[in-house]
Amino acid sequence: MTPDGPRIAAIESLLACPECRDPLSVGPDWIRCESCDARYPIDDGVALLALRGGSETWGVAQDALQGTEYQAEFQDIAQAAEYNLQFRRRPLKLGVTPRESRLIRRCIRQVGRSHAILEIPCGGGRLTPAFADATDLVIEADIAIGQVLYGRKASQATVPRVWMTASAFHIPLRDRSVDGVICVRLSHHLPTAAERERLFAEVMRVSSRFAIVTYFDRHSLKHLTWRLRHPFSRKARKPALSKSEVASLAEANGARLVSNEPLSRFGSGHRYALLVRDPGSSPARG
Ligand SMILES: [Zn+2]
Repeated sequence: MTPDGPRIAAIESLLACPECRDPLSVGPDWIRCESCDARYPIDDGVALLALRGGSETWGVAQDALQGTEYQAEFQDIAQAAEYNLQFRRRPLKLGVTPRESRLIRRCIRQVGRSHAILEIPCGGGRLTPAFADATDLVIEADIAIGQVLYGRKASQATVPRVWMTASAFHIPLRDRSVDGVICVRLSHHLPTAAERERLFAEVMRVSSRFAIVTYFDRHSLKHLTWRLRHPFSRKARKPALSKSEVASLAEANGARLVSNEPLSRFGSGHRYALLVRDPGSSPARG
């Protein structure tokens, strides 16, 4: 055990190669794929399992719009600290973390206790305390090493945690290896349908029971007022989804949309969607 929690070796049986999805073996400072022989370093206790790139990495033609720029942000711990601190300092952001935490807790109450929850992107761990007491283990993953390092240093939760870099398009975990996935503030960075479909598919692939995914609501007041002001703009303000699109994405992956709460009625267009796997869709996990 490191002072920060169990080492990545503690979850070896949950890990899958982000390249080929076969099992990984964990050594003292590297991780190796037993099938394709890919090697991933462990740096200062953080498993570097992020496979970068957009849809070309899963065989869908690259689109000029897609969200890979976002992957380049926050590689630096100072930049990550700045992003995280704005939620405590900037007046418009104050109150957001408590509201988001309440929404997460409301979702978690509906699904009960978990053995393991994956938080991706974990950012600086701002929201981890909202669900940490409802699980035995949290896997904290972010595409950006800066966010992971900042989160490990700054975040308060006392639950055992494992840290890694990972892409939500290639989650380095086996199918149904965790009870649930919490994916806050990622889907609205993904401008293409291919990327959003991939995100929901990956999140439900690794989850045995549920996922909490936020999205920017196309029918929110925030989005509608922007539309009125920019009637001729072809570009969306930020990539948005509708409730029915989210319900379809859930269904396509063997889940149901069971709750769909707005972060706020006026100030934000974000919604918290709780997706629960249909019991009939799969053999139950032991
Ligand atoms: Zn492999």
